[in-house]
Amino acid sequence: MREKRKKIKEILSKSSVGERVTAMGWVRTKRESKNVVFIAINDGSTIDNIQAVGDTGKFDEALLRKVNTGASVAVTGELVESQGAGQAVELQAEIIEVFGEANPEQYPLQPKRHSLEFLREIAHLRPRTNTFSAIMRVRHQLAFAVHQFFHEKGFVYINTPIITASDAEGAGETFKVTNFDLEKLPKGEDGKIDYTQDFFGKLTNLTVSGQLEGELGALALGEIYTFGPTFRAENSNTTRHLAEFWMIEPEMAFYDLTDNMDLAEEMLKYLIKSAMDNCQSDLAFLDKRLAEEEKVKPQQERSEMGLLERLKFILENDFERVSYSDAIEILKRSKPNQKKKFKYLIEEWGADLQSEHERFLVEKHFKKPVILYNYPKDIKAFYMYQNDDDKTVAAMDILFPGIGEIIGGSQREDRMDKLKARMDQMGIPSEELWWYLDTRKFGSVPHSGYGLGFERMVQFVTGMGNIRDVIPFPRTPDNCEF
Ligand code: ATP
Ligand code: MN
Repeated sequence: MREKRKKIKEILSKSSVGERVTAMGWVRTKRESKNVVFIAINDGSTIDNIQAVGDTGKFDEALLRKVNTGASVAVTGELVESQGAGQAVELQAEIIEVFGEANPEQYPLQPKRHSLEFLREIAHLRPRTNTFSAIMRVRHQLAFAVHQFFHEKGFVYINTPIITASDAEGAGETFKVTNFDLEKLPKGEDGKIDYTQDFFGKLTNLTVSGQLEGELGALALGEIYTFGPTFRAENSNTTRHLAEFWMIEPEMAFYDLTDNMDLAEEMLKYLIKSAMDNCQSDLAFLDKRLAEEEKVKPQQERSEMGLLERLKFILENDFERVSYSDAIEILKRSKPNQKKKFKYLIEEWGADLQSEHERFLVEKHFKKPVILYNYPKDIKAFYMYQNDDDKTVAAMDILFPGIGEIIGGSQREDRMDKLKARMDQMGIPSEELWWYLDTRKFGSVPHSGYGLGFERMVQFVTGMGNIRDVIPFPRTPDNCEF
């Protein structure tokens, strides 16, 4: 008879020798020596496997033949002191049951190291590997910690719409939402598509940011945050961009830019600490994984710190806060600029910073996270607070080593006349955003907010180089399988 199932994490941490338990999970490896079979089982609750040990003579040969890598099993028996190194206990198999077989000729995951590229092609199975199960557990812990952090501070979690008629950034990188028959689009007399006949009576798209609606929440509830999916049809095939990603966007009434930076820094540290406190074995595994990956890199590309070291370093150090103008001076005088090593040379104030510049500041110059603030208004969005110098806006970007921009935020322009003028200048149709402008018309207050790209955070904490490897099913140009 089976016992009531216990998770392997619980068995390994809480059960003691002599207890009879039932573990269920997927076989990672099976080894047979003379009269003994060793089965390593993992159920996703922890990176660690439980080892079941059985006398081959006690089991049906046909049954044991079904126990292969990838098969799902239930094993019942007594916990005994482990003979091998590594684990304190192992399971003396008494009953072995097979739920589902996995034909070794067809099952793509074998007990060896697979490339991350190959695993992306089998994203439906990759959570069964150590690396991806560890990443998914860390991702979960970080998501949980996001809610915990804001909840502890009294923020209200609000859900902003996923289908919108506005393009918050005015960047135009949107996916359209329609229920038109695309083969038979209704046209008006001018020959253009008549969106008044579409489902919402107007052109709509998937949201690129919940910020504008988030601000409406802040100007009623004080402090809110959103945590939802975000869509950008950007055709940039980088290791840091997805077409579908998750974003955390807090908005706070009565916060100026400094309050905004303080909150963001505190949040990032809180999230990292939460992962370090609660995902020790997963992070230890990922730390080792990264160290092995670094070993095969050329010397000058290797990072100076290991994963755990990096995380600890962030917790223990203040972020460097540098104005855009100061950053431009540093970049202008920098070696790669002088020696024309940058792809985009920094010649004058006003230049948009490329990721090579951001990475230089973070990884070479300051060697720690950097908060850049007070950017030229011409390279930033219309809703940012216009500083007295008439040249800059109260924006801030947080740059992380290996990642680049992880947070983008600003104090919001709360003065109606200034906001309206900027929108007109930038050609943002204020009629469509009448509801946004209403908050400036009625009881406007200074307020601020930012957006944290959740996958970039997971990337940083897990040390994964490619953003496609920290989300279960990545959406990128030409890729929408699963
Ligand atoms: P980048 O310059 O890296 O494209 P952005 O300036 O477009 O970033 P924001 O519009 O400020 O970014 O969005 C806020 C945050 O969302 C960014 O700091 C980043 O962490 C994340 N982010 C932005 N675009 C993507 C994307 N395509 N995939 C994943 N995360 C993203
Ligand atoms: Mn972008």
